[in-house]
Amino acid sequence: MTHNAIALSGLRKTYKSGQEALKGIDLAVPAGSIFGLLGPNGAGKSTLINILAGLVLKTSGKVEIWGWDQDSNPRQSRAAIGVMPQELNLDPFFSPHGALEVQAGLYGVPASRRKSDEILAMVGLTDKRDAYARTLSGGMRRRLLLAKALVHSPQVLVLDEPTAGVDIELRQMLWENVRRLNRERGMTIILTTHYLEEAEEMCDEIAIINHGTLVAQDSTSNLLGQLDAKTMIITPAGGEYTLPKADGISAERREDGTIALAYNARQTSADAVLAAVRSADITIQDVRTEQADLQDVFLNLTKDG
Ligand code: ADP
Ligand code: MG
Repeated sequence: MTHNAIALSGLRKTYKSGQEALKGIDLAVPAGSIFGLLGPNGAGKSTLINILAGLVLKTSGKVEIWGWDQDSNPRQSRAAIGVMPQELNLDPFFSPHGALEVQAGLYGVPASRRKSDEILAMVGLTDKRDAYARTLSGGMRRRLLLAKALVHSPQVLVLDEPTAGVDIELRQMLWENVRRLNRERGMTIILTTHYLEEAEEMCDEIAIINHGTLVAQDSTSNLLGQLDAKTMIITPAGGEYTLPKADGISAERREDGTIALAYNARQTSADAVLAAVRSADITIQDVRTEQADLQDVFLNLTKDG
């Protein structure tokens, strides 16, 4: 039986300023998945994640973490989740090792079961074990935030924009860690990112929110398949030809010698496109299609009006 790592229903948040950041979100995150939460700036991603983390109080709705209701089982639901926040909020007076020990204490992890050094090694901070946090670079602070999220071995790890503004090396280290935690420990991963290619590459399933409302939730492949605009690229075998003409197909020559045929997959079948090519007496040497990418899906779903 598959169960949900996170289940939200009717989740709302209105800040004191009157800003409605979440307008009734229903969302289920399958256990064991790498789940992407996407949306433009101000969509409500951090608000949602901070509610999961217990850092922001929801206005109404239901939050279940690993089957535990956040209101009736606050301790268990908190123990099931580790959050790497977007803000670099570290106490400057603690060393990485000290910060992990304090965090472990907060979560009631007994000294005998703490793995501070193992976690520091995993995020590549062993040689900064006893340095003051204020002497760490931005990248090192981020790694320490990831380490802090892991001290109580949560079932669900949440990362809020972990790679925004970090260099390629750190990004790769983060994703390697995340993949390994998912693969080897079955940890459920929820991440928000601005990098759509990253979500496309990393995530099994994606939810898109915009203006505090969920606009899509599906497997990454279904989301990518949902756009109707397709392009078939034909490499002609050679010789003279005129461009195929048919209703619903717009053909053009590309500079590389191929013919691009744009069509709407809902109205025109691939077969009809091929038939139009054949009736123009074009011999096909090669054929491929261009898929919409997540960027197209995202723009399509979040465009206003
Ligand atoms: P995202 O992480 O998707 O960029 P946020 O959750 O940070 O979005 O913000 C959602 C909305 O809530 C925005 O309009 C933002 O200005 C507002 N907001 C976020 N935090 C606060 C806060 N502490 N007080 C008032 N409004 C806030
Ligand atoms: Mg945010």
